[in-house]
Amino acid sequence: MPAKTVNDIVALCKRRGFIFTGSEIYGGLGGAYDYGPYGVELMKNIRNAWWNAMIYSRDDIEGLDAALISNRLLWKYSGHEAGFSDPLVECKKCGARMRQDKMRDPSKCDNCGSTEITEPRAYQLMMGLSIGATADGAINAYLRPETATTTYTNFKNVLDAKPHKLPFGIAQIGKAFRNEISPRGFVFRMREFEQAEMQYFVNPSDDEKFHKMWMETRMAWWVNALGIPAEKLRFLPHEKLAHYAKAAVDIEYAFPDGFDEVEGIHNRQDFDLGSHTKAQSEFKINANVLENRDSTTKLSYSDPQTGENFIPYVIETAMGANRAMLAVMIEAYNEEDLGDGKSRVVLKLKPKLSPVKAAVIPLARNVPELLNISNNIVGDLRKLGIGRIELENSGNIGKNYRRHDEIGTPVCITVDHQTLEDNTVTLRYRDTMAQERVAIADVPKRILEIVNE
Ligand code: ATP
Repeated sequence: MPAKTVNDIVALCKRRGFIFTGSEIYGGLGGAYDYGPYGVELMKNIRNAWWNAMIYSRDDIEGLDAALISNRLLWKYSGHEAGFSDPLVECKKCGARMRQDKMRDPSKCDNCGSTEITEPRAYQLMMGLSIGATADGAINAYLRPETATTTYTNFKNVLDAKPHKLPFGIAQIGKAFRNEISPRGFVFRMREFEQAEMQYFVNPSDDEKFHKMWMETRMAWWVNALGIPAEKLRFLPHEKLAHYAKAAVDIEYAFPDGFDEVEGIHNRQDFDLGSHTKAQSEFKINANVLENRDSTTKLSYSDPQTGENFIPYVIETAMGANRAMLAVMIEAYNEEDLGDGKSRVVLKLKPKLSPVKAAVIPLARNVPELLNISNNIVGDLRKLGIGRIELENSGNIGKNYRRHDEIGTPVCITVDHQTLEDNTVTLRYRDTMAQERVAIADVPKRILEIVNE
């Protein structure tokens, strides 16, 4: 049974060092969380799973890591400066501020139930910055609210450095910042979060084909790479489309409180490259774009066969990495009754995602012979380069197993007195708790098999 409430995950995250409240010792800061020793590993493994699928397994997508702070002109022409806002309402009775489109009932305050609610006003979500020695406090730059815009503005740089024929894509994983009105749901809605986005540039006549292809590809990734059961995921097409979008579909996951968005797959037509390009009048831009007087570069593509120079369409896949990690943890979380009044919490993660790949445990603490062998096994496993291998020299085997069950370590390796006689160790498996005696020489091969399952 996966976690019944997000609170199960919040407690585990704090207890075992996955996620902490940001600025906690000073009372916290809404919408900011810090990732601890096992949280950084799980996030890294999710990022790697995405990068492997989107870049290393293909020939048509390039990686990029653009700056988090950017010239405000990017956000003027992307439309964010004028239009990236949420509808803010306030309760006249208790003063609660809410995002109108996410209220349980827009006519009643979510906090106190009062019907005295102000009219909505547009609330800018971008975080402005004042940078440079001459800055006088006026906003002259922004923290990016998404990775996508910096991908569009690098379109020509990437294409010139690494020529591609259409279709091809550019992918980024990185931080994004939004001044959300009401952060909620633990890491579900934060003010600083991480996105994994890919923009796929296509010939306008191929847009629908590639939108469908990416919907299928991304859904299969959630199932196969993250281990989320297909029946816990669904597509939700947007009923109301943004003016530039031809189609927009979310992938939603069944969180304990109901289905909610984890990734968007959108057909954005030629809006983005069309908005940021120089010499807009030379192109037939389909989307409604702001006249651009500042761009220094044509963001167009020349077809090598026909010689036609045009603005490609964009199919975008935009995933929230923190929401992915939350869904993975909810799905992997199990509370098991072991009989005799005993129970355990176990995180049944796919071994590829596990923060620790294996723990080596000498049965007794500080026994030099056992510790030497354990250290040698740790050394051999670290040479495999598969991620974190831990040595547990506490002498409390039961506690060690419980800790590693809770952080999702797929296998523990116990070194005991029999090891000194026959060079074998016990492998203890997380999911079944089954134990198996294995020759030390065979351990690295066995661990590799488990991690690559
Ligand atoms: P929402 O409707 O939930 O505000 P969005 O449609 O604005 O999200 P996008 O701009 O499409 O989101 O961003 C892509 C992905 O980034 C989302 O699917 C989500 O997983 C993630 N994301 C967006 N905002 C946040 C946030 N404040 N905190 C955590 N993840 C977020």
